[in-house]
Amino acid sequence: MTALATVLATAVILVAVAQPAVAFKVTVKPTSVRQGDVALIVVTGAATAPEMDGSVAGRPLFFFPYADGYAALIGVDLEAKPGRTPWHIGFVDGAGAPHKAFGVITIKSRKFPVQRLTLPTSMVDLSPADESRAEAEATRLRALYDTISAARLWHGRFTRPIATTVKPEGFGFRRIINGQPRSPHSGVDFAAPAGTPVVASNRARVALVANHFFGGRLVALDHGEGLYTLYMHLQRVDVTEGNLVERGAIIGAVGSTGRATGPHLHWAAQLRRARIDPSDLLTLPVGD
Ligand SMILES: [Zn+2]
Repeated sequence: MTALATVLATAVILVAVAQPAVAFKVTVKPTSVRQGDVALIVVTGAATAPEMDGSVAGRPLFFFPYADGYAALIGVDLEAKPGRTPWHIGFVDGAGAPHKAFGVITIKSRKFPVQRLTLPTSMVDLSPADESRAEAEATRLRALYDTISAARLWHGRFTRPIATTVKPEGFGFRRIINGQPRSPHSGVDFAAPAGTPVVASNRARVALVANHFFGGRLVALDHGEGLYTLYMHLQRVDVTEGNLVERGAIIGAVGSTGRATGPHLHWAAQLRRARIDPSDLLTLPVGD
């Protein structure tokens, strides 16, 4: 095994290249990556490269211009297997010389709290009709998340979906509902009064407006390149499918539709099928 392959994400990797004049550097930010995290892989010193290619765990990365180089988002599913996962990048510089770099990111496991909830039986022990409805809705959402739009619509920082300084909670919680273990909570919840405006976290295309058994009235935004944000339990939806929305545009209002114990916004995000903590988007080191 080469020394490079043993380098962990916590290290900055300096790559020796044939032409020292175009030395470049690959960094993963933050340096420690956990289940459910969003990270940036940043390539600096590659400003003259017309384009950048790469992958993490065999899945393609989508690079965008960043500082004097490029960056791409990495999404770690909340149930991703902890351990080492390889990445590689490759590009041709402005002078036509090929460059490659590779390394390993270490995904750390995370201890998620267990949450016990009591809900009306009809919302937990589903009738066959509700069961098949909920399954069809989940299938539709999965198909949506599998659709990767080529153009990146999001730009710069992400904004909170509602105007509050309250810290959202609940990401990854292992839920036990009426004594039965259920799938982990794949978003965060913002407690807010019904009617509170909900805004688009970043520029996006409205990919889905629907009324689901669990999610209630919902909006899914396609930010491009496999990044989606999802807004659930809405009282009201103010956009229609196909609309292009800017960051901060009102898309609906907080409600308690679907399976909800009270008015709140369930906000979730997926990056190429990885269920990520949407709060991480708010602290990405991307400027406007
Ligand atoms: Zn929720």
